[in-house]
Amino acid sequence: MEPCILKVALDTPLDSCFDYRWQFADGEACLPQAGQLAIVPFGRREVVGVIVAVAGHSEVPPEKLKDALAVHVQIPPLSRAWLDLCQFAADYYHRPLGEVAVPGLPKNLRTTKTTALDKALKKLHKADPASVPLRAARASKAQTVATVEDAPATSAPNALEGAPAVPLAPPLNPAQEQAVAAIAGAAGFAPFLLFGVTGSGKTEVYLQAAARILARAQPPEPPEIPHAQVLILVPEINLTPQWLANVQARFPHLSIALLHSGLAEGERLAHWLAAHHGRAQIVLGTRLAILASLPHLKMIVVDEEHDPSYKQQEGLRYSARDLAVWRAHQLAIPVVLGSATPSLESWQHVQSGRYQKLELRERAVPDAVLPRVRLIDMERDKPTDGLTSTLVKALKLRLERGEQSLLFLNRRGYAPVISCESCGWVSNCPHCSAFMVLHKLDRRLRCHHCSCEMRIPRHCPTCGNVDVQPLGRGTQRVEEGLQQMFPTARILRIDADSTRLKGSAQAAFGAVHQGEVDILVGTQMVAKGHDFQNLTLVGVLNPDTALFSQDYRAAERLFAQLMQVAGRAGRQAQKAAGSPSEVWIQTRYPQHPLYGALMAHDYERFALGQLEERGQAALPPFIYQALLRAEARELPMALEFLHASSQILEHQAITIHDPIPMAMTRVANVERGQLLIESGSRPALQAFLNAWLPLLREIKPRVKWSLEVDPVDI
Ligand code: ADP
Ligand code: ZN
Ligand code: ZN
Repeated sequence: MEPCILKVALDTPLDSCFDYRWQFADGEACLPQAGQLAIVPFGRREVVGVIVAVAGHSEVPPEKLKDALAVHVQIPPLSRAWLDLCQFAADYYHRPLGEVAVPGLPKNLRTTKTTALDKALKKLHKADPASVPLRAARASKAQTVATVEDAPATSAPNALEGAPAVPLAPPLNPAQEQAVAAIAGAAGFAPFLLFGVTGSGKTEVYLQAAARILARAQPPEPPEIPHAQVLILVPEINLTPQWLANVQARFPHLSIALLHSGLAEGERLAHWLAAHHGRAQIVLGTRLAILASLPHLKMIVVDEEHDPSYKQQEGLRYSARDLAVWRAHQLAIPVVLGSATPSLESWQHVQSGRYQKLELRERAVPDAVLPRVRLIDMERDKPTDGLTSTLVKALKLRLERGEQSLLFLNRRGYAPVISCESCGWVSNCPHCSAFMVLHKLDRRLRCHHCSCEMRIPRHCPTCGNVDVQPLGRGTQRVEEGLQQMFPTARILRIDADSTRLKGSAQAAFGAVHQGEVDILVGTQMVAKGHDFQNLTLVGVLNPDTALFSQDYRAAERLFAQLMQVAGRAGRQAQKAAGSPSEVWIQTRYPQHPLYGALMAHDYERFALGQLEERGQAALPPFIYQALLRAEARELPMALEFLHASSQILEHQAITIHDPIPMAMTRVANVERGQLLIESGSRPALQAFLNAWLPLLREIKPRVKWSLEVDPVDI
């Protein structure tokens, strides 16, 4: 046979598809296929890439064309649909295809060594599969397209074995039943917004809709593997253990795969393979799981769809939620976006009729009621150690009753800054436009934006004054104040500092669930998703700063965050003797409409107001944005580049704003500027970017730049 040409996507910057020649061995007739992994020479290295197409000829002159070395034959090829998903993401976010397709694969698939893969495959198939060498030796290349026989066993990867008794699914309430029926009964692409207050039983809707969809796909004769998979995305790694336990308990007979960045490489490979082979019927993961290979995907769930963590903040800056909707459209399946405080983008899609709204108005547990949200005017009730007397009283009451309290403060460390009263010195980071944060426990000042840290100075570095004081408070300081106020209470702090060690977050949450904690102090880590059974008080310490942020999304984020943290209280049936759960918010602006809507648990009022403002100001979701960022040693260099960029292409239906320094201009000695591009039309914006980016690359500036489509942090 004549050699053929493999077009292989590699994880390299800029153009990432390269042509390689595939030489057939004598008598070999099987063509390599798109979707298979190939090992190819690249520079001096050998690398693994994804074959995106097989062609008869190449534009590359024959003398320059290199031979592909081998093709992976142990695993089935990635599907055309998966390749199309990657291609879409690459086009939409303007990144090379290889950067989308390759890094998402487990590391053990991206190396040229085969040991780990062979071992994982053996485990997956239990029955020893015909062991096929990775480097298809010339003689055995007829196996190029062979896929490993599907073995009957559908066991989950080992880490997941050993399910708790099978809890019965609770009977659905009418609103839940309506939602489940709509999702499971949908034909073709069907985007749903499941809008339900915290504790309204959204999880139950996901699980029972999934159960119906999976049951439909059960083959009449076991032990065939049902050709159906459900993908569930959750916003936080820390939520996966709780989710896994729930899903496993509900579906002990199914195989579940877990995909998030916290897995060890071996586990990652095992779970990825289980998904890729269609063995795992339920795949649970964080945002990166949206790019997993799922050959039999029949439904996607995005829980807490408004959560900013669905947006990747570097490299391929994708939105997992948006890709989920695209993927559902591509596969003509339902996608369920769930939230108590939907993103304004999704809410607007409901208004325009693009998404169907499914609503759960009440808490699902009989007698569980929404907590009462009240404000404490800090001008009248002046706080000591950060706590107003009202909040202290409420805490005391919980301690007496043996109930749990949660204090929410989205600022870790002891104090955000230290300062000298006599000369005005403050602990600026020498490398960033940010303060060094006081971490009293390890006696350090630490910048949260670069790696810089130093000992706490004994005296003011400028004037020598020994009285250097912390200003403001973070979670450590609140914890310290509580310990003095309530010496016998069991107080636990949960934030990024206290949970640095692997497994420590899970242990901490476990302690709360076990009732070993009276007062929990935490950052947004504790606000999300956790179902604390005995929690009847939530105190919010200092939310006001976000009210006056320049970022037009700050209010939306704050509202979502406060609703979410408030939702941690009162999830269980109201105790007969006790009073209802309470949320106290300490604020200097009790008249602010955001708090008004919050007290009324009225997301819709809040959203309406926000959308009106956004419409008037021509902001997303009514227009579409892209952001060009530039980094340089000197700010003028970055701004100059941005200015030049804004001039190189004639444009219509596009607004290019003036280049400005980023809100946080300097990070780790790099100065950063940004250029905002807007349009009322998504296609017009995309067309502009397509024409513009090649010109930008030609400028060859001395700055580093990156483009973000649909930026969330501006
Ligand atoms: P959400 O995800 O909307 O915040 P959850 O799904 O966590 O809410 O449900 C809150 C609580 O309600 C859970 O303890 C769950 O077991 C319970 N629950 C859900 N649906 C029902 C139901 N139909 N009957 C009784 N309890 C339910
Ligand atoms: Zn001083
Ligand atoms: Zn710094």
